[in-house]
Amino acid sequence: MTRVAFIGLGNMGGGMAANQAKAEREVLAFDLSSTALEKAVAAGCRSAGSAAEAVQGVDAVLTMLPAGPHVRKIYAEEILPNAPKGALLIDCSTIDVDSARAVAAQSTAAGFRFADAPVSGGQAGAEAGTLAFMVGCDEADFADVEAIIQPMARAVIRAGDHGAGQAAKICNNMVLGASMIAVCEAFALAERLGLEPERFFEIASKSSGQCWSLTSYCPWPGPVPTAPSNRDYEGGFATAMMLKDLKLAQEAAAKAGAATPLGAQAEGLYALFDRLGGGWKDFSAILELFRGNAPL
Ligand code: NAD
Repeated sequence: MTRVAFIGLGNMGGGMAANQAKAEREVLAFDLSSTALEKAVAAGCRSAGSAAEAVQGVDAVLTMLPAGPHVRKIYAEEILPNAPKGALLIDCSTIDVDSARAVAAQSTAAGFRFADAPVSGGQAGAEAGTLAFMVGCDEADFADVEAIIQPMARAVIRAGDHGAGQAAKICNNMVLGASMIAVCEAFALAERLGLEPERFFEIASKSSGQCWSLTSYCPWPGPVPTAPSNRDYEGGFATAMMLKDLKLAQEAAAKAGAATPLGAQAEGLYALFDRLGGGWKDFSAILELFRGNAPL
């Protein structure tokens, strides 16, 4: 039986670890939150007392942590000193390209195979096992990475070498952050113009305004039952996380000399919404900013 360690069982990691267990793998799970750990155990995982304990004797280590510093620290202090040398190390968190490349270099130097494999598809995709993975790894390792990821995925695409998965992810999320703002502005305007938001959804979802932010993650409650807008924007993808990704995109753009003015505007608007109290609401709650309902 394949043994995997899963570290970071939050909004995303919880569902992803459950899908590893469903695929009849032995999953050694760890999270700093005891509530998250209890949920993973209820979903068929085994609880470990620490990340260092979780990685012992496993075939693969999966991490789904908030940001670069968490990943760097846990790799240096717990994973690299304790995982067996043959283990395949896969980080699915969204982090900066430099951290991904640094962790890849440390892993390779310590004799491990490593992949950065951030995801798209949200909490619903994590629970359903339908995430899209963008992978940065050596070409020779890709088939093994894909085999470990497969129970959590609808698509696994190799973006390139180490760090390329994260580059693809921050570009993708810059599109997502800006498109959600465009959809929210349009709903707020439709409301002001006396157009029923549900009618606007019906029309735009069949017209050229159609996009993922509208039809898979609608910020207006009702039309898309799985969207966080139907549960007071709890869970999902926190505004603070979106802000983190947009900052990563801006930092990368500045270093690369790329012009990303819409990405910069989006970063400013999520920063404002964060300051007004929206940081731990799903990012689609930024609708309330345009409706004039912030602070929340
Ligand atoms: P989350 O805050 O819900 O989960 C992170 C988990 O990591 C928490 O449960 C926390 O307790 C745990 N954690 C932090 N430090 C730890 C440590 N040292 N050891 C063990 N556990 C630790 O966040 P999330 O929404 O699940 O996002 C996780 C990552 O996935 C982020 O990088 C995010 O950008 C990315 N992501 C999120 C979504 C989404 O829709 N939520 C979508 C795609 C990618």
